[in-house]
Amino acid sequence: MSRFFSEKYKNLAPYVPGEQPKDRRYIKLNTNESPFPPSPLAVSAAAEAAKTLQLYSDPDCSLLAAEAARAFGISEDEVVFSNGSDEMLNFAFMAFCDSAHPAVFPNITYGFYPVFAELNRVPYTEIPLRDDLTVDPEDYIAAKGTVFLANPNAPTGIALPRSELERIIRSDPGRMVIMDEAYIDFGGESCVPLTRKYDNLLVIQTFSKSRSMAGARLGFAIGNRALIRDIQALRFSTNPFNVNAMTMAAGIGALRDREYFARNCRLIRENREFIAGELRALGFEVTDSETNFVFARHPSVSGETLYRELRARGILVRRFDRPETADYNRITVGTREDMETLAGTVREILEGQK
Ligand code: PMP
Repeated sequence: MSRFFSEKYKNLAPYVPGEQPKDRRYIKLNTNESPFPPSPLAVSAAAEAAKTLQLYSDPDCSLLAAEAARAFGISEDEVVFSNGSDEMLNFAFMAFCDSAHPAVFPNITYGFYPVFAELNRVPYTEIPLRDDLTVDPEDYIAAKGTVFLANPNAPTGIALPRSELERIIRSDPGRMVIMDEAYIDFGGESCVPLTRKYDNLLVIQTFSKSRSMAGARLGFAIGNRALIRDIQALRFSTNPFNVNAMTMAAGIGALRDREYFARNCRLIRENREFIAGELRALGFEVTDSETNFVFARHPSVSGETLYRELRARGILVRRFDRPETADYNRITVGTREDMETLAGTVREILEGQK
């Protein structure tokens, strides 16, 4: 850190993204990317948009908002776009948290939340999950501050039913609830239908997972018009061109290709059930994931050993150091072929450990 770096960031511990290694070819199951390419409609739309990159992108994202409005049954002024949903989460911390409205989220959840809280100098409370790694709605009904919940949660993959989330939202109309639905298209019940009923609910989603566009960086939030205006104020005060023209075009293409989207979500769900079944048959405890990853631990092999042995064999997964989850690995659901290779490799590792 230089001697010029502002004091206000002295406690900042930046988020560490999953590795993107270049040393060899891995079966990459560590960052919850889609194993499928983006829709051909998205790719051709982005290529077309590249021809006019001399122009700034549309700061209102009008065509994309119109397409999203059609897809989600909302109005164009009930949605706002961002450079990945990470940026939207940061906007939510900026907009809806301060010392009078501290952030509240589970102790085991998306690791970026505490970083955004720190960055924005927002106090925060981490509420422990139950022993079975589920979220207890009562904790959030009782909570004061702005609630952040990933549903389904990461890295556990476990979802809460919408009725339980609604109980949290309804319990205190004076408290904002930010619902991070990064993985909602793989299972779970979206809270988007509740956004017209509750003006204290903001739902955040991403094109990174189910629409295979992690590299394009496109996220969005759906909520009451007043909330969307708040986020727009922050967007226009930081970077009105946060969504580039190629990404905007690709996003429209991806939304239009509903069949491709539905097929890929179905394949991921099928492959998830396949790999969860294989791992359970090998003695793993696997959480009930509604996402494009599984979260698993084995009674006789440590999480770290499994991580290391898989890596040595060219398969990359993700592990988190905190004691409650140190024995788990989070494994992205890939193609059926990759899942078969994974199951075979895990079997080999377990046999070697005997
Ligand atoms: N929320 C959750 C729960 C995530 O796991 C991720 C992906 N790392 C994100 C949000 C952010 O994804 P993106 O910025 O690619 O939209």
